[in-house]
Amino acid sequence: MKISEILKSKRPVSFEFFPPKKQESEHVLFNTIKELRKYNPYFVSVTYGAGGSTADKTLEWTKCMKQDYDYSVMMHLTCVGVGIDTIDDIIAKLTELKVDNILALRGDMPAEMSEGNICRDFGFAGDLVKYIKLKAGEKFSIGVAGYPEKHPEAKSMADDIENLKRKIDEGADFVITQLFFDNFHYYHYMDKVRAAGIDVPVIAGIMPIINISQAVKFTQMCGASIPKPLLAKMENMSAEDQFKTGIEFASKQCGGLWASGVDGLHFYTLNKYGATEQILNNVF
Ligand SMILES: Cc1cc2nc3c(=O)[nH]c(=O)nc-3n(C[C@H](O)[C@H](O)[C@H](O)COP(=O)(O)OP(=O)(O)OC[C@H]3O[C@@H](n4cnc5c(N)ncnc54)[C@H](O)[C@@H]3O)c2cc1C
Repeated sequence: MKISEILKSKRPVSFEFFPPKKQESEHVLFNTIKELRKYNPYFVSVTYGAGGSTADKTLEWTKCMKQDYDYSVMMHLTCVGVGIDTIDDIIAKLTELKVDNILALRGDMPAEMSEGNICRDFGFAGDLVKYIKLKAGEKFSIGVAGYPEKHPEAKSMADDIENLKRKIDEGADFVITQLFFDNFHYYHYMDKVRAAGIDVPVIAGIMPIINISQAVKFTQMCGASIPKPLLAKMENMSAEDQFKTGIEFASKQCGGLWASGVDGLHFYTLNKYGATEQILNNVF
């Protein structure tokens, strides 16, 4: 089902997975899908390695979620460094699989691609949205990424929101946000997004902190911030206490967002079920 249809009447809870690199990690993902099935996600999504590094695996898992588990699936698709032919091929494959949803992304230039010698058919995610619309019309519901704490490369929040508006004007139906830990960032962002005339649903991306050093690395890469008191508290905790504290914090965060009428919650599961399961049990 198209996510644009779901969003007409629902505030979806959804799960994001990544295609495991190693075969021995696949059973972890199968187990996670099995354990999270009872929460009846409105949709699930599968990430895509920028430059196409996971293209085959992403398609394989997208197919598996759709055909074996009967989920509404959204495939992430990045356009940095790839040509129109590659995007045409993916669109054809998704059409064949009857997948209805694409998260259209620019992605980050993979280190192995040389800056001087890359294909520049697409500059930004908005170009990909435009192309998918041109090529496939209304076949796909298209989502795009939004950044409550600003994309790291954007000069200002105002610029970033203007660029988000461009993606919506090209035909994107909804936004999923980068992870954030302080709801203030989301509420403040939403005020600006709505003031800019962007009226599509903005689903909140949620990633519980279950390991503080991992979370610090991750947030440094994506430009999100961990509230200082939480960071200070978790840094000296045992692994077990970090997990417990991270779940408590994320449960409060999700409860607050839900009560405020957030358009949906999208869990970055990292292919694990424990944290997501406990948060959902606490919130709903
Ligand atoms: C929900 C979510 C899922 C993600 N999934 C993946 C994934 O599966 N694989 C992956 O590799 N990465 C993924 N990412 C990360 C994403 O690829 C990076 O954050 C990347 O740096 C930007 O991608 P984008 O689609 O937001 O880019 P864009 O929207 O193109 O924006 C990139 C930068 O360019 C600016 N910009 C945009 N349009 C214009 C324009 N027309 N003119 C001038 N400046 C412009 C923006 O302000 C921003 O600073 C995901 C991010 C989110 C939030």
